[in-house]
Amino acid sequence: MTYQSPISPGRSWYEDTAGPRPEYPALDGDRTCDVVIVGGGFTGLSAAAHLAKSGADVVLIETHRFGDGASGRNGGQLGTGQRAWAEELEAEYGFSCAKALFDLAEEAKAHLLDFAAVHQIEIDYMPGQMSVAHKKRYVDDYKAHAEIMASRFGYPHISFMDAAETAERLGSTHYFGGTRDTGTGHIHPLKLVIGTAKVAAQAGAKLFEQTPSTGITSGGGKVRVTTPKGTIIAGKCLIGVNAYGGTLEPVSASHIMPIGSFIGATVPLGANSKVLPGGEAVDDSRFVVRYFRKSKDGRLLFGGREIYAVNDPKDIHIHIRRQIAEIYPALKDIEITHGWGGYVGITVPRKPFVREVMPNVISVGGYSGHGVMLSNFFGKLYAETVAGNRDRLKLIEDLKIPPFPGGRRFRAPLLFLALNWYALRDRI
Ligand SMILES: Cc1cc2nc3c(=O)[nH]c(=O)nc-3n(C[C@H](O)[C@H](O)[C@H](O)COP(=O)(O)OP(=O)(O)OC[C@H]3O[C@@H](n4cnc5c(N)ncnc54)[C@H](O)[C@@H]3O)c2cc1C
Repeated sequence: MTYQSPISPGRSWYEDTAGPRPEYPALDGDRTCDVVIVGGGFTGLSAAAHLAKSGADVVLIETHRFGDGASGRNGGQLGTGQRAWAEELEAEYGFSCAKALFDLAEEAKAHLLDFAAVHQIEIDYMPGQMSVAHKKRYVDDYKAHAEIMASRFGYPHISFMDAAETAERLGSTHYFGGTRDTGTGHIHPLKLVIGTAKVAAQAGAKLFEQTPSTGITSGGGKVRVTTPKGTIIAGKCLIGVNAYGGTLEPVSASHIMPIGSFIGATVPLGANSKVLPGGEAVDDSRFVVRYFRKSKDGRLLFGGREIYAVNDPKDIHIHIRRQIAEIYPALKDIEITHGWGGYVGITVPRKPFVREVMPNVISVGGYSGHGVMLSNFFGKLYAETVAGNRDRLKLIEDLKIPPFPGGRRFRAPLLFLALNWYALRDRI
């Protein structure tokens, strides 16, 4: 049996198909360096790669293995823009800020694809993304969105789909319409994790797995990161633990909440399957969003059921198959070969969290389900910041992100109630 993440439930299809996954040693002894990075997901690994390539002396530590958090186990969908639509951001922040946030996300998309191409990382990129309405009353919003993206934000790749086109492209009559974006796509995330770690190591970053940080302090111009077998002293520190940080650092913990999200992989559907003939990825308009796509070998990778507290569900297969059957009734008895999950880091306004939580210690996370392209890019922006240019990271830092109400003890039950209300609204 292949390796399975000890911190996220279920063995993923990615773990079985990523190819060789090099192991990195555990830290044993004290170190000094320019920058210490805590967390080996996309955020931390990308930062390590960019920092090392620019000549910085970098140490990265990860509690388990790289990608064991969200980065190696997600839906692989890149999306376009920020999690909120650009017109919603315009209503909140005005056009120039919304456009800057959109352009930043476009750069993030290009960065991910360029990084993989330049470093010859095979990420199984497949183009195309559809966003679809599960209620008729949302269809006009999708139509308007496609028009606004082209006319106001200069993005011509999104087209509106009526119900008939949606049914044909999805192979399902479950939805009422939506949009198709030919300027984005989906990837095998664990392959990107493995490839980015190799780039970082080859550039000279010192990478350690099986090395949890047990504490971070800052004072006198130095940051101290403790681990069970050594202390790292650095000029700067990046915290990239996102939803998996527990109590490591209290400011991040009070702003980023873990939410479980689960994916099932079916057996290959076969060459004659009517499901997603164009190979696009899909996300829908539910608050508890359903997201699905076909893998390179023709399986349906279907994500959906979310829980709002960190409990391992024993029944991912059953729930995911039930959700698949609502959209594809012919697949009601399909065999699910893999069921797995991970924890998405969300913030109250569903926008990323970037903050200097102590002198010289910046915490980055809370991508709220939109982190595949953003987290990789924010790693690069952090490297830019270390090199003296904080302008672009500052654009995100300046977004107002309040802490979750209820403090650490009560925020999960409060969120559970609030999100269950929204989940109920999806059904009525
Ligand atoms: C099931 C699922 C589906 C998703 N689908 C999509 C999608 O389709 N599109 C999209 O854009 N986003 C998606 N996301 C979100 C996306 O995966 C994340 O935004 C992104 O991977 C975050 O990367 P990260 O590096 O910030 O965090 P992670 O990848 O979670 O990495 C954090 C790491 O920090 C480590 N760590 C924690 N504490 C410590 C410590 N004390 N010391 C050392 N290391 C520590 C953890 O072990 C972990 O490996 C999904 C997430 C999940 C869980």
